[in-house]
Amino acid sequence: MQKTVAYIRKNSELRGGNRPGIPLHPTGMVVHRTGDPGATARQIRGWFDQPHGRGRESSAHYVVDGREILLLIPEGEVAWHAGPQANHNMIGVETCEPLTPAAYHQTVQLVADICRRHGWEPTTEFIKPHSYFDPVNRPHDPFSWRLFEAGRQDPEALYDAKQFYADVAEAFRTKEG
Ligand SMILES: [Zn+2]
Repeated sequence: MQKTVAYIRKNSELRGGNRPGIPLHPTGMVVHRTGDPGATARQIRGWFDQPHGRGRESSAHYVVDGREILLLIPEGEVAWHAGPQANHNMIGVETCEPLTPAAYHQTVQLVADICRRHGWEPTTEFIKPHSYFDPVNRPHDPFSWRLFEAGRQDPEALYDAKQFYADVAEAFRTKEG
């Protein structure tokens, strides 16, 4: 797994930008889907690296496609990805759409890597979908937390939740270079 540092501009460099420079001491992470089918990680980076207007700030720490894992904001700084409750506590990981096997694999490896480095168990305690924080506006981002908790499949999910947690746990145990 290879990560590429590709920081977006700080708000001190880009007026109205999406990287406020607020310190973050993360206690977990939020996984997302970009909701922008066809857009590559580089293209999503470009979108985050431009002003969206007040109250419409949007960014994430990582964006992953089949080719790249881009680190857009250091893990020690706040990003705008999942509302006030999560943003000041959680790292944000975005997966590009449509999902490819490579993008899924890279997402799993990255999530396991983040858990390892922060000393987090690779479980629902530390890894939450965006739908957990915003079930109304992001019900399938990247899978439905409600359906997962009810033990049901989400036909509109980007990937299957149960399989995802199992794959992350497996990757967590078997470190890849
Ligand atoms: Zn999201």
